[in-house]
Amino acid sequence: MEKAAEVVVRFGNEEEDGYDAVVVGSGYGGSVAACRMSMAGIKVCLVEKGRRWEAKDFPTNSLKIISDARIEKKSLGMSFGPKDALFQVYEQDDSLAAVACGLGGGSLVNAGVMIPTPIRARRSSKWPKEWEEDWEICEASASAMLRIQSIPVKFPIAKTMEEIAEREIEESFQRPMKLSVNFSHEEQQLDSMKPKQMGSCLACGNCLSGCPYNAKNSTDKNYIDLAVQAHFPLPYIL
Ligand SMILES: Cc1cc2nc3c(=O)[nH]c(=O)nc-3n(C[C@H](O)[C@H](O)[C@H](O)COP(=O)(O)OP(=O)(O)OC[C@H]3O[C@@H](n4cnc5c(N)ncnc54)[C@H](O)[C@@H]3O)c2cc1C
Repeated sequence: MEKAAEVVVRFGNEEEDGYDAVVVGSGYGGSVAACRMSMAGIKVCLVEKGRRWEAKDFPTNSLKIISDARIEKKSLGMSFGPKDALFQVYEQDDSLAAVACGLGGGSLVNAGVMIPTPIRARRSSKWPKEWEEDWEICEASASAMLRIQSIPVKFPIAKTMEEIAEREIEESFQRPMKLSVNFSHEEQQLDSMKPKQMGSCLACGNCLSGCPYNAKNSTDKNYIDLAVQAHFPLPYIL
């Protein structure tokens, strides 16, 4: 039977005491949960069904993108493509979901646009009351962790994107738009917090198939990295 690649990042020494928590999936949800628990001294095992992706492995042309995709069609009970493909498309009834698979989950292939929660969404009575005071603190923490930066005007595409965002996103649109992407060579040298292997964006436009220049702040480079640092200097990966 075909088996998907599986990355297990362990925080703590399970041989001695086992784990306090197991987190399944390493997208934003799983990475943040694993990071915060690990920082609080909880022994966490983070399980990811995809593989670890390096900048050099991301597909940069249409053919490679197709060969790095898996399609599951529930209605026909059929699937095509490798189980640990970077792109996973699930079709069920009248719904289609496209997600990423790998250490970092969707953060590997998303556009990295970070938009503050619109005020009207924050006011919804469905949120716990205590959250009212925490929005700004949490957003500031995520912004710092994801190292959001403004797109330099030197990229002509930046103007087009700003216009679209202004039209589509209205209330929550912030000028300039911020992405969890590294744009600056200079800042990289000055900033000791940034992972040393980070590159700088060259506006190649391949963000949605994974950054081939290592400029995107996917969660494997921040939340997961920090979770690991809380226990070990290096991750123990199977
Ligand atoms: C093309 C694209 C562009 C986007 N652009 C933006 C953007 O600009 N800004 C923004 O805020 N959001 C954007 N998003 C949305 C954002 O990426 C998702 O909302 C986010 O990644 C969801 O995080 P998550 O942790 O819920 O799930 P995911 O990021 O999907 O992570 C789930 C992880 O769990 C793993 N997994 C699943 N099942 C198992 C299992 N049984 N065992 C082990 N591992 C498992 C998967 O392989 C995956 O790695 C974009 C999404 C896409 C697809």
